[in-house]
Amino acid sequence: MDNLKFLGTAGARFVVIKQLRKSGGIWLNLDETKILIDPGPGSLVRCLNSKPKLNPYDLDGVILTHRHIDHSNDINIIIEAMTNGGFKKKGLIFAPSDALYDDPVILKYIRNHVEKIIILKEKGEYKIGNIKFSTPVKHIHGVETYGLNIFGKNITISLITDTKYFDDIYSYYNSDILIFNVVLRESKEHIMHLSIKDVEKIIKKNKPKLSIITHFGMNMIRAKPWEIAESLSNKIGVKVIAATDGMSIDLDKKL
Ligand SMILES: [Zn+2]
Repeated sequence: MDNLKFLGTAGARFVVIKQLRKSGGIWLNLDETKILIDPGPGSLVRCLNSKPKLNPYDLDGVILTHRHIDHSNDINIIIEAMTNGGFKKKGLIFAPSDALYDDPVILKYIRNHVEKIIILKEKGEYKIGNIKFSTPVKHIHGVETYGLNIFGKNITISLITDTKYFDDIYSYYNSDILIFNVVLRESKEHIMHLSIKDVEKIIKKNKPKLSIITHFGMNMIRAKPWEIAESLSNKIGVKVIAATDGMSIDLDKKL
């Protein structure tokens, strides 16, 4: 079964450090390929406690959209688990260059465990198992950050990870499913994250079959993401849902 599982939905610092929502990233099972995206704090535990259990040893690889701790905290232990403690050399790691050099988040001694480490770049195109994906544009986020366009046989998925809004952002992400990392309700100039207002602009332009909001900051949690998603759905007339911890989306079903 092809599915997308939200191991956690926490974003920004306070929701993560207080674990008001769980963190841990997104597990994607598509076209017989398994990928973990942004294994934040608790990712390993969230995998093993999932029902049904997700075994990191089954992973074909891990993608880091950027090095911030809410996205990368568990990367080393996930590599350890993916490679059976380093005894089975396997798996691909995709990460921006600043996750690897100068104050790296991927430990050097663990890099030999994996088959290959691939550096993400703007306009990059990549392949893992049966899936192709691209990193169409560099985000505005303080550290090197890329969103993803994932191309399955029958479905396309975009993850618009952390970024400050920019004018033509919508033109880079035009998939069946759009996933938005959203921290705020209203945009604030100094905060390098999308707000619900930004999400609304992108959805209006692209009209995806399904939009999912996740990576919530305090401001969003207080505002009840499920209510915000519902009112956005009603307002724009396209399906918008708020992710919950452990939520699974069946990708074989019609959206
Ligand atoms: Zn983040």
